[in-house]
Amino acid sequence: MKAGYYVGDYTYEVREVPERSPEKDEVKIRVAWCGLCGTDVHKFQGQNGASVVVPPIILGHECSGIVTEVGPECEYFRPGDRVACDPSYGCGKCSWCQQGLPNFCKVRHGVAKGFSEYVYPPEQNVYPIADGLDLKTAAFTEPLSCAIHGLDLIQIESGKTVAMYGMGAIGSLMLQLIRLSGAGKIIVVEREAEKRQLALELGADLAVTDQEIETIGQQENLDYVVECIGLTSTMEQAIAIAGKNSKVLLFGLGDPQQPIQFNQFEAYTKELSIYTSYLNPHTSARAVKLLESGQINTEKIISAELSLEAIGEELQQLTFSKKGKVMVYLSGEN
Ligand SMILES: [Zn+2]
Ligand SMILES: [Zn+2]
Repeated sequence: MKAGYYVGDYTYEVREVPERSPEKDEVKIRVAWCGLCGTDVHKFQGQNGASVVVPPIILGHECSGIVTEVGPECEYFRPGDRVACDPSYGCGKCSWCQQGLPNFCKVRHGVAKGFSEYVYPPEQNVYPIADGLDLKTAAFTEPLSCAIHGLDLIQIESGKTVAMYGMGAIGSLMLQLIRLSGAGKIIVVEREAEKRQLALELGADLAVTDQEIETIGQQENLDYVVECIGLTSTMEQAIAIAGKNSKVLLFGLGDPQQPIQFNQFEAYTKELSIYTSYLNPHTSARAVKLLESGQINTEKIISAELSLEAIGEELQQLTFSKKGKVMVYLSGEN
């Protein structure tokens, strides 16, 4: 079978790897679609994604597909089942898993490297999807589950004002979740006019530039600020514009070499709570339910549908990644 590898030194290669049968409780899945994630780009650029990277590694972790075979210990899946994957393995036994926090599992590793014709996750990482949900949309399960975890942490109260930075793929999902949370007013901060338009289409009340949000922040209390970019400048501004008693969620993945700064005294007088969010503990089933409900628009977020081979050039140029979500078709089934 074919698989798309980051082999180190800014190089991506599609390699032939042997296909095998599933063992123990593994589910063999013919991958239909896999999203290209910002963390794949980080890995390609020689930084770490959510974990330390030692190439060669198969990229991709946001996949959906159809079960073709199950291991002898599988109880819940059969060939033909349509499924989405949670790529993040939790052993269920270590002290972190015992506390319900598999995102910190001592042996956590990726179990669904979706830039591959087949993946073999254990069944605890596999989620059935309803017939009405197409496989391309189902491949949004992982990014959506991460966004759900982030919003779980800050618990948006209905009627309050939320500012959100960045209409990339993750911001576009986050915006829709914030809308569903019952926020009273959502202001999206985005430099590109085209993406500000998209923000309005996906439920923002207002879409402004980073200069404009400064003024707005002085006029009204921003109760929540959610940053989905990860640039030093926007993270620092997100903390600076937050209002009194505000919660700030730094969701965008920052540069490990670039710590951010903020004025502690100002944050103190506003009694700010600053959150970060790591992965997706126990939120995949909810992500599937939301996608099945049709309340999350993914079509408007997709900027390109590319083959496994075409990803090499995309990782170099980021032509479509700058505009939205790149979806990789493996089997391309729906
Ligand atoms: Zn991802
Ligand atoms: Zn564990």
